[in-house]
Amino acid sequence: MLEVSPVRAFSDNYLWLIRAPGDRTGAVVVDPGEARPVEIALEQKSLELRAILVTHHHPDHVGGVRALAARYSAEVFGPARETLPCECRPLNGGAVVKLASLGLEFDVMDVPGHTLGHIAYHGHGALFCGDTLFSAGCGRLFEGTPVQMLDSLDRIAALPDETLVYCAHEYTLGNLRFAAAVEPGNADVLETLDAVQALRSRDGITLPSTLGHERRINPFLRCREPAVRAAAEARAGRGVASAADVFAIIRGWKDGFR
Ligand SMILES: [Zn+2]
Repeated sequence: MLEVSPVRAFSDNYLWLIRAPGDRTGAVVVDPGEARPVEIALEQKSLELRAILVTHHHPDHVGGVRALAARYSAEVFGPARETLPCECRPLNGGAVVKLASLGLEFDVMDVPGHTLGHIAYHGHGALFCGDTLFSAGCGRLFEGTPVQMLDSLDRIAALPDETLVYCAHEYTLGNLRFAAAVEPGNADVLETLDAVQALRSRDGITLPSTLGHERRINPFLRCREPAVRAAAEARAGRGVASAADVFAIIRGWKDGFR
């Protein structure tokens, strides 16, 4: 199993630091929106940054890339279909990131929806999914369509139950409040909401999650469940024809949910 630690940045971002199993002093960071917190974490752990993995082009995911890549001569990997602030090895879905000297290898997945070129990294039983999947939620559709996002989430949901999900934001509590509004009868949602409320009251970190757990609590992975469909129909005041329609309705509902 990978040794992964969260580096906090901005108000609620997590920049995930992966310790290289094949290199005692090597580390990789995912989506460094800020350089300084990563530098501090590396110094504390006596690690050198060897590579940077980027999921999408938003500033809170790439803001520190240029400074970190220059300081550590780290190799940068990113989505082929998006423009990053510095040179990177462009990746499309189906590619494999092989970091042989670090003992790391990740499969790249295309997961459009939040942005059109968004990619995710899967390997060693872990998924680094940026702003595509959150615990009990998913990213806003800034560039893609509901059909694209549902397809991306369906392909993520096909990964094994025990996959550890490293999302890029601490949004879990707000997402669970929404999940409880969609499925007030879902005991897993209510139980997790209690646990997460307690954890967040002492500033605890709710990630990583697992895909098996997300399938039970995340309304956006549950668009084909009768209860979620019924909630979407009640919200829309009409019958709903497809899972993509269910997804579109609950995503729109969540956008205005407080
Ligand atoms: Zn984003």
